[in-house]
Amino acid sequence: MRRTKIVTTLGPASNKIDTLRKMIAAGVNIVRLNFSHGTAEEKKDLVDVVRQAAKAEGQIIGILADLQGPKIRVAKFKNGKVVLKENDTFVLDAALDKEAGDETVVGIDYKELPGDVQPKDILLLDDGRLVFIVEKIEGTRIVCKVQVGGELSNNKGINRQGGGLTAGALTDKDRADLKTAVALKADYIAISFVRSKVDVEETRALIAKEGGEAGIISKIERIEAIVPETLKGIISASDGIMVARGDLAVEIGDAEVPAAQKLMIGYSRALNKPVITATQMMETMIHNVVPTRAEVSDVANAVLDGTDAVMLSAETATGDHPVLVVQTMARICLAAEKQPISLGLDQRAEVQYTRVDEAISMASMDIAKNLKIKAIISLTETGTTALWVSRVRSGVPIYGLSRNGNALGRMALYSDVYPIEFDVTKFGNNTELKKAAIDKLQQSKLVKAEDLVLITCGDNIGITGRTNSLTILQVE
Ligand code: PGA
Ligand code: MN
Repeated sequence: MRRTKIVTTLGPASNKIDTLRKMIAAGVNIVRLNFSHGTAEEKKDLVDVVRQAAKAEGQIIGILADLQGPKIRVAKFKNGKVVLKENDTFVLDAALDKEAGDETVVGIDYKELPGDVQPKDILLLDDGRLVFIVEKIEGTRIVCKVQVGGELSNNKGINRQGGGLTAGALTDKDRADLKTAVALKADYIAISFVRSKVDVEETRALIAKEGGEAGIISKIERIEAIVPETLKGIISASDGIMVARGDLAVEIGDAEVPAAQKLMIGYSRALNKPVITATQMMETMIHNVVPTRAEVSDVANAVLDGTDAVMLSAETATGDHPVLVVQTMARICLAAEKQPISLGLDQRAEVQYTRVDEAISMASMDIAKNLKIKAIISLTETGTTALWVSRVRSGVPIYGLSRNGNALGRMALYSDVYPIEFDVTKFGNNTELKKAAIDKLQQSKLVKAEDLVLITCGDNIGITGRTNSLTILQVE
């Protein structure tokens, strides 16, 4: 069984039920809906198809709604694109008509940009493919000299090297999309370009106001967000983070990203939160049928770093081989997981527990590592005990049994955790409940007679946050 989870971005290449079923069979755990593209209506149809495909395959698939955030983009060109040469003068003008771009000037959607930049700033366009140096600011116009030219087409992104743009994480579009995501009962909502925990707290309040239960994934892609104290604040306030290497590489420089990835994964595990490693993991498989050696190493190293999940973007959204790329990624994860260094990262060893359920979770892992436990069963309302137990990479499978759809969808992201739908309230007492849980696993051939299993649950079944017991039972 694969311990690392696969997040896959949906798009034109992967929005049909047959393809989705094959992708799920190949190993997808979470689907990502990219709110940078398409309408609310399209998202609703897509979610319907995902739910049908998951049901047909008998799998629990989590849904991650990824909000666009304040990505700063050029507006449009009269002819769709222009070609810029080194030393050309080119103007970004916040007051220009949206469609009026040409060889000398283009509009920008973020109107505050002229106030945020200064002469000598370096602007990176289209993920750094083009480089502009700011020469001067004239009111709404940012006059630049082209340092690295190339083709610039409609709506390409702009980043300032070194970060520091003032835009908050939630735009008006994001607020509207958040409502859509809550209405679709997304398990996670991802927020882009998070600056600090304030952005996360604001999002949490908005989700609560809409009556949603979605967890929040903070995408770490700004230079401000990787300052250790800020990063820890963001992780603690979130339900997980994404190592968003695309924009992050533009802000901090590509060479800084591998170390930043290790830092983010380490902090997430230590702070009991899941982490997704994202962007260009299998980039050449957008067209090719085999990955490069470097891509294989990248996925494997993310697993060895301790990531919960690896993510596919264009590979599955618009690529030529959406099923094959999932199969390939799954195969690479499995091989990396055989390495002893993928186990036993116990950053929590010295920590003082503050909650009873946390103490039970950690004691379970200690036992699981030292007694031949075949499975851990976590009877859980919210999935929290399963998350805690999974932070210690023991290699023992954790079955998260829950009746709550969002808890199941969330657990789909946690490494080593396998969500199973199970109504804990149907039983007269805890003895019956535990027996039924073991029967359920035995029927699915996940455990067999004489195996030792460890069960965590609460005395008061069906109440959130009350896990207070740990039982070791032998399968009959
Ligand atoms: P994006 O986020 O694909 O939404 O830009 C991921 C990244 O920046 O790496
Ligand atoms: Mn990004």
